[in-house]
Amino acid sequence: MSVKTRFAPSPTGDLHIGGARTALYSWLHARANNGEFVLRIEDTDIERSTPEAVQAIMDGMQWLELDWDEGPIFQTHRFSRYKEVIEQLLAEGKAYPCFCSSERLDTMREEQKANKVKWRYDGKCRHLKPSEVDLSQDHVIRFKNPEEGVVTFKDVVKGEITIANKELDDLIIARTDGAPTYNFTVVVDDMDMSITQVVRGDDHINNTPRQINIFKALGAAAPEYGHVPMILGDDGKKLSKRHGAVSVMQYRDDGYLPQAVRNYLVRLGWSHGDQEIFSMQEMKSLFNINDINKAPSAFNTDKLKWLNQQYIKSTPVDELMPHLQWHLDQQGIDLANGPAIDRLIPEFAERAQTLKELVAAVTTYYQDFDEFEAKAAKKHLRPVARPALELIRSKLELIQNWQPQAIQSSVDETAKELDVGMGKVGMPLRVAATGGGMSPAIDITLEWVGKERALARIDMALAFIANREAQG
Ligand code: GLU
Repeated sequence: MSVKTRFAPSPTGDLHIGGARTALYSWLHARANNGEFVLRIEDTDIERSTPEAVQAIMDGMQWLELDWDEGPIFQTHRFSRYKEVIEQLLAEGKAYPCFCSSERLDTMREEQKANKVKWRYDGKCRHLKPSEVDLSQDHVIRFKNPEEGVVTFKDVVKGEITIANKELDDLIIARTDGAPTYNFTVVVDDMDMSITQVVRGDDHINNTPRQINIFKALGAAAPEYGHVPMILGDDGKKLSKRHGAVSVMQYRDDGYLPQAVRNYLVRLGWSHGDQEIFSMQEMKSLFNINDINKAPSAFNTDKLKWLNQQYIKSTPVDELMPHLQWHLDQQGIDLANGPAIDRLIPEFAERAQTLKELVAAVTTYYQDFDEFEAKAAKKHLRPVARPALELIRSKLELIQNWQPQAIQSSVDETAKELDVGMGKVGMPLRVAATGGGMSPAIDITLEWVGKERALARIDMALAFIANREAQG
């Protein structure tokens, strides 16, 4: 049977790191086996589902480059199909209407609680005589769970799991208003869509035996299941907003590359020897759901940052550009106002852990600033720097062909004429021209800043010094 997997989020918020990892594993399993991958939107909880969340989930997946072959399929579009299957189960005597009032159920729940037993419907309506059934009265539909025997399945992550049917009660598959419930719609969908492997969070593990019983009642084979342990924060507690960003798109906003996040997520709960960096091609060929770790993994932002830096350094400029461009646009930086960015990237990528840092490092070559960095200015734009700045300005102004060599000669001559070390000219000049104390070699830096802009900034630095002098 050809492999078919699905990601089945409930659209109640952004795509979170945990969901993204589940999606990635399902997607990789399909891709690794030449199979298909379905996006299914589990939106039957109408109160909590929103179109914005559907969009946010799809945006997150697209950003991570997880493409789907089918979908998005919305469960709310499949109500007639669920109804049909409920009718079928009723006709075959595998489901029954239940008329128990909420008062009766509440009392029963209280009693069971007092006796310290796990809540379980007692099956009263399972045994109603046909004469006692009046479908005009309010009722839910319950699935007739087998009363004897066990459900056994081999979870690809957790190993073999066995549950006695006695532990499972007759779960509601349709509510009073006829709306189908989660455990039921999942089964109908996984069956109709011929899903072969289900990868999902282990918070669903208790649902699985119930779902398998419904598969059996429908005469269909259940898929294989892999329940992935939850992701923990660095304090060992379940990952949540308290630990920082959990939404995938927040990582984009914070300057992470999708390939780094993808690589981080694949390793968060799966490994292949001690390899850390996987190209997309490698992931697709090496990923195997049987190698998913049993133990929960802890999210480590430093490691993600490290990976991001590796990717920023090693990704070819043309691949990096669309992602960098997104951040430049966010900051309103127009590359037409400065040097060719592909000359700058190799210089600055080395030290940037995020694209935001990379943008911050190159901004000065494209956009003017209002203020010098306080610390750099305090140290280097002092009255003693005035003669150097004035002299170098006069020399730079005369350069016709604004190239590193001519710029360097001007710096050298200035240092020589004033009989000071190179740093006494270079540092004030660097701070004046870029606004801060960090930049590549001064000749290259000035070339990138451009002549007109460099001269204007030196004037600004001289004014800054004059102001300082005036203040004493
Ligand atoms: N809709 C469920 C959720 O978002 C997933 C169900 C499943 O994967 O079977 O938790």
